[in-house]
Amino acid sequence: MDHFQIERAQRLSQLPPYLFSEIDKAKRKAIEEGIDIINLGIGDPDMPTPENIIRALCDTAANPANHRYPSYEGLLELRHEFSLYMKRRFDVELSPDNEVLTLIGSKEGIAHLPLALVNPGDFVLIPDPGYPVYRASTVFAGGIPYTFPLLADNDFLPDFDDIDPQIAERAKLIFLNYPNNPTAAVADRGLFERAVEFAKKHNIIICQDAAYCELAFDGHRPVSILEAPGGKDVAVEFHSLSKTYNMTGWRVGFAAGNRDIISALGAVKTNIDSGVFQAVQYAGIAALRTPVNIAADIVSTYAERRDTLVDGLNSLGWRVPKPKATFYLWVTVPPGYTSTELTTMLLKEAGIVTTPGIGFGRNGEGYIRMALTVKKERLAEAVERIKNIRI
Ligand SMILES: *Cc1c(COP(=O)(O)O)cnc(C)c1O
Repeated sequence: MDHFQIERAQRLSQLPPYLFSEIDKAKRKAIEEGIDIINLGIGDPDMPTPENIIRALCDTAANPANHRYPSYEGLLELRHEFSLYMKRRFDVELSPDNEVLTLIGSKEGIAHLPLALVNPGDFVLIPDPGYPVYRASTVFAGGIPYTFPLLADNDFLPDFDDIDPQIAERAKLIFLNYPNNPTAAVADRGLFERAVEFAKKHNIIICQDAAYCELAFDGHRPVSILEAPGGKDVAVEFHSLSKTYNMTGWRVGFAAGNRDIISALGAVKTNIDSGVFQAVQYAGIAALRTPVNIAADIVSTYAERRDTLVDGLNSLGWRVPKPKATFYLWVTVPPGYTSTELTTMLLKEAGIVTTPGIGFGRNGEGYIRMALTVKKERLAEAVERIKNIRI
């Protein structure tokens, strides 16, 4: 045999095509040409992790006790801290023993959840537009992704009455994500109550992704699905320290909720990973004990940036709503452009990187996403540049 061919597993070809390759190419070209790029494309905080957290890592990293495999379920002390947070913040009681699970970032838990719950051929209900991991993890578990639309007319919330009851009967799991990436929509308690009712009626497990629940503005306080009556019977909620404390690189988060869901996810994880570096777990404890004024400063920085960009764009005649949460703007594309065309144009003409809505699903067409992960001055500069081009 002179040629050995590597054949990828079929599940990889079931993933949606990578839609950003044209934009990536244009971005690389612009950088090579020395163009000063303003990157509003990525949802990754630009600010440093608060000092108290870094200090906790440094203090514990040198201790040999932390150099060994951590326990599968994570330090009880950290899980206890997670449950204290859920009590303090949402008045939700959770046992650190079996209703909270430490994760290597919430993405890890979300990606492994379908392996724990979904059988081949089960339907999984996925928001469109939505965070791409929900679909990929469903496909990896042999589930069938079935999308439900998030539409402006319904404030980018699901309409449970509109989901085909025959599909719902065959569905095992539904993904929700509020505050929402990419639309920046928020859910109130009523939405979560309707979700729990729908889930109970059709025997569907709920996975609510709460990655942005601490990034909310103007006094808005996102709620937990575990606050809804019966929430703990059907739901698991994924929490992350990444966005709240500028810790995307550290990889620590947690799952909270129904103990049977938590135990099933734990069973998958014990066979795949060996937990979070213990020094990072100590840093996680420190994160949740971060002085409130430091966490509030992070949020108010995003609020200021939001105002700079939204007010700036609206002064040019755009109509961008002010999001109540997340660090994204979900911006309607003007007539005459697709989302990809507008993104390409903004990059070529203004050196501004944005994300085309189509990358998050069919219903993302007609929008682009702008991330508030650059300094206010750069956002003001972005507005100036857009003023000087014709859209
Ligand atoms: C950033 C993000 C996550 C992942 O966060 P990690 O805890 O860093 O894995 C999960 N869900 C959504 C919607 C996100 O945007």
